[in-house]
Amino acid sequence: MNKVNVFWFRRDLRLEDNIGLYHVLNSGLKVIPVFIFDTDILNQLEDRRDKRVDYIHQALQGIHKDLKKYNSGLYVYYGTPIEVFKKIIQDFNIDTVFSNRDYEPEAIQRDRQIADLLLKHHIQFRNFKDQVIFEKNNILKNDLSPYTVFTPYSKKWKENLKNIEIVPVNRDGFANYEGPSEIISLKDIGFEKTDLDYAEPKLYRDIINFYGEYRDFPAMDRTSHLGIALRFGTISIRECVQYAVKHNEVWLNELIWREFFMQILYHFPSVVHHCFKKKYENIVWRNDEKEFKAWCEGKTGYPIVDAGMRQLNETGFMHNRVRMITASFLTKHLLIDWRWGEAYFAGKLLDYDLAANNGNWQWAAGCGCDAAPYFRIFNPYEQTKKFDKDTQYIRKWLPEDYREEPIVEHTKARERALKAYKEALAE
Ligand code: FAD
Repeated sequence: MNKVNVFWFRRDLRLEDNIGLYHVLNSGLKVIPVFIFDTDILNQLEDRRDKRVDYIHQALQGIHKDLKKYNSGLYVYYGTPIEVFKKIIQDFNIDTVFSNRDYEPEAIQRDRQIADLLLKHHIQFRNFKDQVIFEKNNILKNDLSPYTVFTPYSKKWKENLKNIEIVPVNRDGFANYEGPSEIISLKDIGFEKTDLDYAEPKLYRDIINFYGEYRDFPAMDRTSHLGIALRFGTISIRECVQYAVKHNEVWLNELIWREFFMQILYHFPSVVHHCFKKKYENIVWRNDEKEFKAWCEGKTGYPIVDAGMRQLNETGFMHNRVRMITASFLTKHLLIDWRWGEAYFAGKLLDYDLAANNGNWQWAAGCGCDAAPYFRIFNPYEQTKKFDKDTQYIRKWLPEDYREEPIVEHTKARERALKAYKEALAE
């Protein structure tokens, strides 16, 4: 068997401007492109019609179709990565496995396991930076500790930014290799087709160029909707940053927030289960299950909150302004543990990303690294006046016969939250 190299796709589901792929295609050996539907992840999903799985599947089909043009094809496996790699090692004579780095704690652990297995078989495992501009210790304070506040982090990030290079695809690297004729079906991995219609992610200039002006008004729906594409790497972050640098700094800052929370998760993995600010673990949450259910279903009697939750439940998306309002409402007005809300969003958001979701929930609850002081509590009515003054967003997502009574009274809830936070922090 001739030696080959393997490229393992993960959060980088594209052929264009893919750093790891660029390196493997220039390695001189034939390339076997693989993707693994990881049962450790899939088994945790409750909904067999999860649109994110369908999204990945459709993206893989696109890649496979493109690869066919080069007499190649994508090998899509189903199982735990370790079991799958045991099989791949048997089937091919591998020199090196190439992939792009993933910074989530479980992914890091998975990669360590795979590296160990490969090492035992004298196979190298090479990883590249691809899903971010800056990773790990690229951006540190002068004392070499990680940043925990966004503004100075973003300043340093911008100072360090050099010309961004988009890497070409050497498609000849795939040439003359007989790949599989089709990829595994959704059904074969225990999922069903959904109504999700995969579209090639695009940078909509008219949205990004006016991002600062319109991004806060949910009814206008003028944000990029690239969250899911950035999550699964169907678009390259370098392409986004390159455009943002030239055309819109407000949007650039959002992309930096993404990296900010990724490096927080990387340096402080305990945030997955714990408040970044330890004292906030003392908060005595009310955790009323009935109220939580009302929040999930969009039945709190606060129209802007309920509209947001219904948008999320129906579409898998919620506008950022409304994410902030609903998260603040859950943690402050209802005094429900931010981890409950975080988990609910994780199950529903198409653009769900551990670092961003966790970072933003902790921000909303006040316990995060760079959170507003806890006593600044969003007033849902004032937020509506400011950002949905004609109630266009609310009317879009609430049915005409919507008649929910508020489950808590704003002023009382606010005082209750202030008291609970104050007591927790005084201890
Ligand atoms: P745009 O507004 O066009 O922004 C472009 C991209 O920048 C986004 O796609 C995202 O990758 C990144 N970005 C923007 N804002 C943030 C932010 N505050 N933090 C980190 N990255 C950001 N974003 C996620 O990608 N995944 C999540 O699971 C997630 N959960 C959230 C939970 C809460 C409670 C809140 C308040 C925000 C959350 N966000 C999350 C951040 C933000 O709401 C979404 O990124 C944004 O609404 C997605 O819409 P868009 O793709 O149109 O983004």
